[in-house]
Amino acid sequence: MNFDSKVLKIVNDAEEKLKDFFAELENVAFLNQKKVLEAFQNNSVALRHFSATTGYGYDDIGRDTLCKIFADIFHTEAAIVSPLIASGTHALTLALFGVLRPNDKMLAISGAPYDTLMSVIQGENIGSLKDFGVTYEQIALKNNDFDFDAINKSIETEKPKLIFIGRSRGYEWRDALSVEKIGKAIKYIKDIDKNITIMVDNCYGEFMDIIEPSDVNADIMVGSLIKNPGGGIAPTGGYIAGKENVISQIAYRLTSPSIGMEIGSYTGGYQQFYQGIFLAPHTTMNATKGSALFGQVFSDLGYQVCPNPTAKCNDTVRSIKFNTKDELISFIQMIQKASPIDSNVLPLPWDMPGYDNQVIMAAGTFVAGSSIELSADSPIKEPYIAYVQGGLTYEHVKIAVIMCVSELLKNKNL
Ligand SMILES: *Cc1c(COP(=O)(O)O)cnc(C)c1O
Repeated sequence: MNFDSKVLKIVNDAEEKLKDFFAELENVAFLNQKKVLEAFQNNSVALRHFSATTGYGYDDIGRDTLCKIFADIFHTEAAIVSPLIASGTHALTLALFGVLRPNDKMLAISGAPYDTLMSVIQGENIGSLKDFGVTYEQIALKNNDFDFDAINKSIETEKPKLIFIGRSRGYEWRDALSVEKIGKAIKYIKDIDKNITIMVDNCYGEFMDIIEPSDVNADIMVGSLIKNPGGGIAPTGGYIAGKENVISQIAYRLTSPSIGMEIGSYTGGYQQFYQGIFLAPHTTMNATKGSALFGQVFSDLGYQVCPNPTAKCNDTVRSIKFNTKDELISFIQMIQKASPIDSNVLPLPWDMPGYDNQVIMAAGTFVAGSSIELSADSPIKEPYIAYVQGGLTYEHVKIAVIMCVSELLKNKNL
């Protein structure tokens, strides 16, 4: 790696502009680290909590304590944290099926939920919510905020059992929703009817702020452990945190209505989950600093980025709009080339199940598919937007930025 001095100057100048912003991120990480440390100490975490278990896993103190720690950190009555949850989509699916019953209505109020949830909700003959007689309505955001009139009308027409809010952006050109905005929507809904269960897809959102959706009265909050709260260390798993009565319903879906959280062993042991949540505030800060650097550098080079470089971020994702398909593909390929794992692999646009367009992805990660590690993906369609996120260390992201810019300038013959 030989870095061109012209490129280094571009990146170092951008970094200089981010100084104050980085100081704010450090303060968020500091306060969140304190929250996490207190949860460890209040639950007297000891080496015995890391032990592997087998079979039914009755009285698995490592599992039970991990759940308590997440509940403490997120200020919820209860939490399910489990390596038996295979992904974020699985965690979200468990939560939906745990709460909704035939003839109930589900209402999504931040536009379409994440892509992989659409067939969970509306698929035909695959055991979707629709197959079980759950009806579904969706309200788009209006000017990047909730459409309160439409929400009110939908509730008055037919009361939903569950309202769904997605904090992150998905493949949309908008910033993620702030916890403050989510809190206003929750208050609005609870004032109409406090019995409606409100669920937030918190993927990519954990530790971006000093409060979480659970602090503003969300009944259920769901996320993936191969994103922020796994700290880059957890090898798999998901979490669901929230009110005791809903969490127990969801636990009955995780295992069985007769068993709930009484069983569930993990032969790999729990150390990586504990260490992961302990590191999560710092890892998330590194990824966010890296995301801001991508934003600042590409904005300085004249590209449109979202959110703006020094705007408060509500998830770790940065969207960058490229001029051509070739620029976009070369950007994603450079992210792969800058990775510690599989750096020699060349990603290409490919047809993927569940997507209308071809997709190109870069993920040279320690934990397969982890997106708290530096990764990027993009559907191949106009406008050509790359979604880049993650980074275990800020320094690594900075190197990746330098490599991307070098390639870009080389191709432009600048
Ligand atoms: C990652 C993600 C999910 C879940 O995705 P998995 O790949 O199944 O872990 C859901 N919602 C959002 C917003 C996400 O970013």
